[in-house]
Amino acid sequence: MTSSPPLQVTLQVPAKINPQLRVGPPRQDGYHDITLAYQAISLYDILTISQNPHGPTMNVSGMDSDRVPRDQRNLVIKAAALLGSHLGIEPHLHFELVKNIPSEAGLGGGSADAAAALVGCNILWDSKLGADELMTLGAHIGEDVPFFIIGMMAIGLGHKQPLIKLETSDYKWTWVLGVPRRGLSTKAVFQEFDKVSDSEEAYLTRRKDCLETSWGTTSPESLLSALANDLEVPSTKILPDISVALELGKSAGAHASLMCGSGSTCAFLAKDEEHARHLKESMQEEGIFRKVVIASGPVEGVRVL
Ligand code: ATP
Repeated sequence: MTSSPPLQVTLQVPAKINPQLRVGPPRQDGYHDITLAYQAISLYDILTISQNPHGPTMNVSGMDSDRVPRDQRNLVIKAAALLGSHLGIEPHLHFELVKNIPSEAGLGGGSADAAAALVGCNILWDSKLGADELMTLGAHIGEDVPFFIIGMMAIGLGHKQPLIKLETSDYKWTWVLGVPRRGLSTKAVFQEFDKVSDSEEAYLTRRKDCLETSWGTTSPESLLSALANDLEVPSTKILPDISVALELGKSAGAHASLMCGSGSTCAFLAKDEEHARHLKESMQEEGIFRKVVIASGPVEGVRVL
């Protein structure tokens, strides 16, 4: 006997941070080569998808929900439309999204939600696509989308190239995330990067370092000098609060301070949960962040609740 697909599905999807993010000089076509390590962390958006003959419709609540579009610009609706057109199905669905991942913060929130939509629609439509097929579709929505389907740790090479899944052991990374009051536009950060970027050769050396690091099977304490983000300098030029935040983290006793993605969130590595709570209190007192949260990784990708 075969069971029929559910009428509603609820999924949780994590945010990500990039322990290392390397960017090459602008290419002839204006794009950049990129090599980055991903880690999924325990800060989750929740997406519920249900049948709605009048859909697609969407409601968004929670963190920064006023900044999130409810129409075709939302990556959830884009993802459902893409999978639907692949399968020949109209997305007559309602999406109820609860945001906990701050927006325009370099934590990949929109891409994470798109991954949740792909996994959820695949269940509701009983289409039985495998993770690899969903990841290939996801890459057409955004470079980060495939990562959220698998989570844990991986290396990304950009330009729709397949992710390199990383082996992980039991090491837990405990982060305090400080989200500055202002966000950063990814486009503006790359424009600033182009003014300071160095040679292709120098990028290739940094890329090799990223590819050769055993991110998942080495203790975080042994990887402190490997934590790096090539977009930190250009982001700081646009938003000086970032360098203030990174310095604050160091003086408050964080093991390492690192900007996330294309900013503006700053991540501070703590020794353990207690150290993280202490760091969080110091960060909150400074008043330059609109939100300070504790999250740990690596965690799995999209999960059905
Ligand atoms: P990235 O690191 O991928 O550049 P980010 O984490 O800095 O992105 P997001 O929260 O993904 O930023 O938001 C980027 C833009 O995407 C916002 O301007 C927002 O309007 C739009 N957006 C589309 N769909 C969503 C969604 N589901 N959640 C949040 N933002 C979304």
